[in-house]
Amino acid sequence: MPPHTLSALRTTLGNIDAATRRTVRMPRTPARPAWPDRDYLGWRDPSAPQRGYLFTEHAGPLRGIMLTTTRARAGAGRAVMCELCRIPRRFEQVSLFVAPTGLAERRMSTLGTYLCVDLDCNARVNALRPLTPLDPPAEALVAGRRAELAERAARFIDEVLAVR
Ligand SMILES: [Zn+2]
Repeated sequence: MPPHTLSALRTTLGNIDAATRRTVRMPRTPARPAWPDRDYLGWRDPSAPQRGYLFTEHAGPLRGIMLTTTRARAGAGRAVMCELCRIPRRFEQVSLFVAPTGLAERRMSTLGTYLCVDLDCNARVNALRPLTPLDPPAEALVAGRRAELAERAARFIDEVLAVR
């Protein structure tokens, strides 16, 4: 993804109203990984920790959604999988996130999915390395997983925004 300013990102949040958009904050620390290594952008709001944001530019214009999470997580002691990166993780590293939908129709409904708690799957996907001699070389492995990550993130965001 190319870099965007916070105000540009705020205006694309399609599932919240203008008043809520003005309250969106970004972490002070610079985004890691760098913009070109991102297939979607995600972060947790530093002043409203239950909130998170996802943005994509995959196969279309920049668009984004707000999500909220609760302390409810998958069963303790179990390995779970984030729906975006599909990398198995410990239960406390994955959480249920819920996005409000139907803002335009003034309907209150939500769409939920299990995601990495830091909303930063890219950092882990970029670090993937072959585990067996049968796996593709690291470069091809990462490229393939990044394409899947971009596709899944865009699909979820578009589902919430109901643009497809
Ligand atoms: Zn993930």
